[in-house]
Amino acid sequence: MSVLVPRSLADAVSALGEFPDGLVLAGGTDLMVEINEAQRRIDDEHTVVAVNRVPELRAWTLDRAAATVRIGAGVTYTELGREPLASLLPALAQAARTVGSPQIRNAATIGGNLATCSPAGDGLPVLSALGAVVELASAGGVRSLPIGDFMVGVKQTDRRPGELLTAVTVPLLDGWQGYAKVGVRNAMVIAIAGACLAIDGPSRSVRLALGSVAPTVIRVPEAESFAAQRIDWAAGTVGRDAVAEFGGLAAAASRPIDDHRSTAAYRRHSIGVLARRLLSRAFPVVDGAE
Ligand SMILES: Cc1cc2nc3c(=O)[nH]c(=O)nc-3n(C[C@H](O)[C@H](O)[C@H](O)COP(=O)(O)OP(=O)(O)OC[C@H]3O[C@@H](n4cnc5c(N)ncnc54)[C@H](O)[C@@H]3O)c2cc1C
Repeated sequence: MSVLVPRSLADAVSALGEFPDGLVLAGGTDLMVEINEAQRRIDDEHTVVAVNRVPELRAWTLDRAAATVRIGAGVTYTELGREPLASLLPALAQAARTVGSPQIRNAATIGGNLATCSPAGDGLPVLSALGAVVELASAGGVRSLPIGDFMVGVKQTDRRPGELLTAVTVPLLDGWQGYAKVGVRNAMVIAIAGACLAIDGPSRSVRLALGSVAPTVIRVPEAESFAAQRIDWAAGTVGRDAVAEFGGLAAAASRPIDDHRSTAAYRRHSIGVLARRLLSRAFPVVDGAE
């Protein structure tokens, strides 16, 4: 096979223009596993475009005026998990710190997580809850789309042949945000269920995204609007009953499956627990407040 190693974004995009079905290689922590396990065949016909030496993909920028952070597709979990990005996007940092081991986090990228689009990808519920926008570049130009439109199914995205995922732009919210997941142990574990809750105080909005309980990461509008109405925004508290119902709405929205990692029933139960836990971390829980 041929392996191209572009050193600039322009070269990477033009390599994919020439080889639209070229296999993009970033950290290789998904791709090499798929190749080793023969889930993906690779032979002399293939062209690999290795993008980990493209500086533009490894950079991130803060736009204070727009209140966004634009994260290059090649930014690693190690970088997402440490300052200064960690203070800007705390839930993303929390999710990043749960991914694999330090070795995996040093190599694995947010772009790889997005492009693989596993329903269990830890970065995805956070990007979904925060309302991130995915940017793709090809020889024909650049297009951007909301993450909810980018993720179309189990390991399926709207990325077209010849397109390189270049960045994800994440709004900065003003409020508590957090990510939590359930797995069979505390580290090196793929989520059985995962959830991100993000609050935006000024707009009194609540965002909840769930992982591992549907073909792709989902938002839960019913639970979001329910919580937004039941939170006491002035006092900054939430009632115990509302927390319980919020968990029930999240569980009801999930459409999990039985597989080698868990049963659907346990996944649904876990989602209810995670949603309740996150809401009660965001707001002190009080008895009787409606
Ligand atoms: C031991 C181990 C533990 C893991 N633990 C976790 C975990 O806890 N949580 C979790 O979410 N994931 C986990 N993973 C999966 C993996 O680390 C992540 O999904 C990671 O984000 C993939 O990024 P990467 O840079 O390694 O992608 P790669 O493997 O290089 O690529 C993955 C896919 O994305 C495509 N791609 C990559 N970059 C681009 C781009 N810029 N444009 C277009 N397509 C692109 C590739 O062609 C490929 O299809 C684990 C993997 C291993 C091996």
